[in-house]
Amino acid sequence: MNDDKGHIDCSEAIYRMMEYLDGEMTAADADHLREHLLTCGPCLEEHDVDRVLKELVQRSCPCEEAPPTLRTTIMQRITTICDDGAWTSVTQVRHISEG
Ligand SMILES: [Zn+2]
Repeated sequence: MNDDKGHIDCSEAIYRMMEYLDGEMTAADADHLREHLLTCGPCLEEHDVDRVLKELVQRSCPCEEAPPTLRTTIMQRITTICDDGAWTSVTQVRHISEG
C-alpha cells in the first residue's frame, strides 16, 4: 500500500494531524507530514482546519483536556472525509468550527 518509506499518504496525514499539532510525533514523522503538506493542498487545508479546531477546544476548556468524545468525533469526521475523498466536506468542518 505504502512501501515508499518516508512518504505518507493522505489518510495517514489526516489521521496523524492531531498528533502533529499536539507535538506528539517524532521529529522524523513530523518531517514526513510537513513534506506531505507542502505537496498536497487538501491536506494543508485540513491542517489549518485542525489547528482552528484545536484552538477552539483549548479556548472552551482552558482548565481541562479536550473531552475524549469530542476528539473522537473530530477524528471520525476527518476519517470519513478521507475515505470518501470528498474534500468539499472540509469546508463543512470549517463551518462547524466557526459556529
Ligand atoms: Zn494529502
